[in-house]
Amino acid sequence: MNYQAILNQIHNDIKPIVGQGKVADYIPALAGIDPKKFAMTVHTVDGQYASVGDAEEKFSIQSISKIITLTMAIACADQTIWSRVGREPSGSKFNSLIQLELEQGIPRNPFINAGAHVITDIIYSNHSYPKQAILDFIRYVSLNHEIDFDLAVAHSERETGNRNLAMGYFMKSFGNIHNKVREVLDVYFHQCSIAMSCKDLSTAFLYLANNGVLPTLGKTIISKKDSDRINALMLTCGMYDSVGDFAYRVGLPSKSGVGGGIVSIVPGEMCITVWSPGLSESGNSLVGTRALELFVNYTGKTIF
Ligand code: GLN
Repeated sequence: MNYQAILNQIHNDIKPIVGQGKVADYIPALAGIDPKKFAMTVHTVDGQYASVGDAEEKFSIQSISKIITLTMAIACADQTIWSRVGREPSGSKFNSLIQLELEQGIPRNPFINAGAHVITDIIYSNHSYPKQAILDFIRYVSLNHEIDFDLAVAHSERETGNRNLAMGYFMKSFGNIHNKVREVLDVYFHQCSIAMSCKDLSTAFLYLANNGVLPTLGKTIISKKDSDRINALMLTCGMYDSVGDFAYRVGLPSKSGVGGGIVSIVPGEMCITVWSPGLSESGNSLVGTRALELFVNYTGKTIF
């Protein structure tokens, strides 16, 4: 299949809607991003690569980082994970507090904010230098040793992230955060601030398209079983409370971030990444979702 021609076609198709959606301005450092940015890449497990738009421009990966930390927590073989975090879609906003009280401080899944805080707490307990461990991991899988935190974004979120802190303290009151809340959340804000391009992302997450083995290096990152499980969680929980609509329209395990990025996996075949900063009500890239829907329509690449 000629992926370059398909991406060119999609780029053309989405032109009338580029710029739609609302940039995530609740993080002040993200408010100034140009909503007209667009990029899309396809990277196959057998080494084909295609791109359109600003595919090498770095943006804030935000919640896409939750795939990184979940992979690392699973790789730590921490037996406590699934007694501390659920595996069900939340049906509520990614930063909702209500459910946490009803469910005794056990977040519904590792991809909503509260769940990601618990996962980061596990990373914190298992690594002496958790921030560096996260950077080392993402640099390794993306083959790009220049990837770094965007400190302006991390500090902006630390200054304004009262809701995240509230969740952290609330879970701590149930005993579900084991380390100091401010320190765990500092790691969380840094992981969210990581700046990567679509090219970097579609290289990094190829292991999820290849049974846990990174095809670029021939290295096993996680077992096939765990790779399948992460894909299952992405399909059911990766797109917040519009996960059902997204599965209906796109039908691929995916994870979004409020920076406007989405990573999608075609198991056994490829990793697709799209970036467009304008978000829908549920916090997913609006144009990005449409671009993925078009990709699936043109290629028939869906898991169903
Ligand atoms: N850093 C963001 C937050 O905690 C991540 C949310 C997201 O990308 N959905 O609010």
